[in-house]
Amino acid sequence: MNEHSFSPESQMMSFGYKPELSEGAIKCPIFQTSTFAFKKAEDGKAFFEVAYGKREKTDEEELGLIYSRLNNPNLQITEDRLCLWDGAEDAAIFESGMGAISSMLMEFLNPGDVLLHSVPVYGGTDHFINHVLPKWGIHSIGVNPYQDKEDVMKEIEESGMKDKIRFVYLETPANPTNALVDIGMFREIADSINTQEEPIYIGVDNTYMGPIWQHPLKLGADMVIYSATKYIGGHSDLVAGACLGSADLIKRVKGFRTFMGNMAGPHTGWLLMRSLETLKVRMEKQAQNAQEVAAFLNSHPKVEKVHYLGNLKPEDGRQYDIFKKQCTSNGAMLAFDIQGGEKEAFKFLNNVKLIKLAVSLGSTESLAEHPATMTHSDVDEDLRNKIGITSSLVRISVGVEDAKDLIWDIEQALAQV
Ligand SMILES: *Cc1c(COP(=O)(O)O)cnc(C)c1O
Repeated sequence: MNEHSFSPESQMMSFGYKPELSEGAIKCPIFQTSTFAFKKAEDGKAFFEVAYGKREKTDEEELGLIYSRLNNPNLQITEDRLCLWDGAEDAAIFESGMGAISSMLMEFLNPGDVLLHSVPVYGGTDHFINHVLPKWGIHSIGVNPYQDKEDVMKEIEESGMKDKIRFVYLETPANPTNALVDIGMFREIADSINTQEEPIYIGVDNTYMGPIWQHPLKLGADMVIYSATKYIGGHSDLVAGACLGSADLIKRVKGFRTFMGNMAGPHTGWLLMRSLETLKVRMEKQAQNAQEVAAFLNSHPKVEKVHYLGNLKPEDGRQYDIFKKQCTSNGAMLAFDIQGGEKEAFKFLNNVKLIKLAVSLGSTESLAEHPATMTHSDVDEDLRNKIGITSSLVRISVGVEDAKDLIWDIEQALAQV
């Protein structure tokens, strides 16, 4: 037979699961159990030795399960499947995106270290960086990431904390304006300012592009973060998160998770497994719908500007170049400035019928919200205006509905403004 390697989407239904171990069930059952029976005491001893890092697993050994805070089949199989899209060696699933972000940062930063991050980041991440990490003696430098390398370096120099930077955290495309951060540029910066043997690690929040359209590990990042609540879960029925990377780094993240106890439960793992099967078709349909919705908005007289990756042109310079280098799709998130301000934006939001007025994103149903007073109301007003989160901005997460219906809905809601 010819060599053939299956695409990730072909493996999402079966990878890592053996029906013969579960009565032949075609679907992986929910392993709703806290603990696992050892066949003999020697097995329990061996499993613990490896789980607690006292020794490496030998090649002949087939390790068993111990306790659901350490390992559970619903998590392990989901983690193995999630790795396929990003080309990661291992993944750790958490009960929320914030669980993944906070655990990664706490594992890799020590008191006295400094975190360099792009601005803006997701509201919860921003709060964690500015209000929680300082309690542990970890401070941060937030840089405007949309400038040239020289200007970013200048900001770093001026902070006076350059020598203490031990981690770089980026979010791209940025929520809600779709502005892009050059991951490769930050790799160069991190390597050039490092004074220690251990590298300065880079973590990228890839929630907006899901694992389908952008692969940060191939662009210079060491770890990828997902709020799996969004595209990966995709049905607005769960909260979860993930951190992916090399086996060495994820071993550390999983070690931290074991003692924080913030791993996802078996039912969340099972729901994610269900969701991964349709991830690619959902995201493709959502991107196709977004393209049609964006085309409609682009030509509507009550719409001033549409923030959509598909609108980037070579004239946009660096943003266009980064887009070409990093993303394989225009995505399914867009935002637009309605003519007027908050009053007009609210009028639109209060009149959509099919689209739901709610925060969150990436789900099968389309959602609309007002970033300035909702998801980004915590962001400093000057910064908000500087980065385009104005009172006239409306964000839409495009779902899998019929695009004709979405456009009808947007048209009739705009007509009432
Ligand atoms: C939602 C979100 C998070 C936080 O994830 P939770 O699952 O809500 O904890 C982090 N980053 C981005 C970009 C998000 O959209």
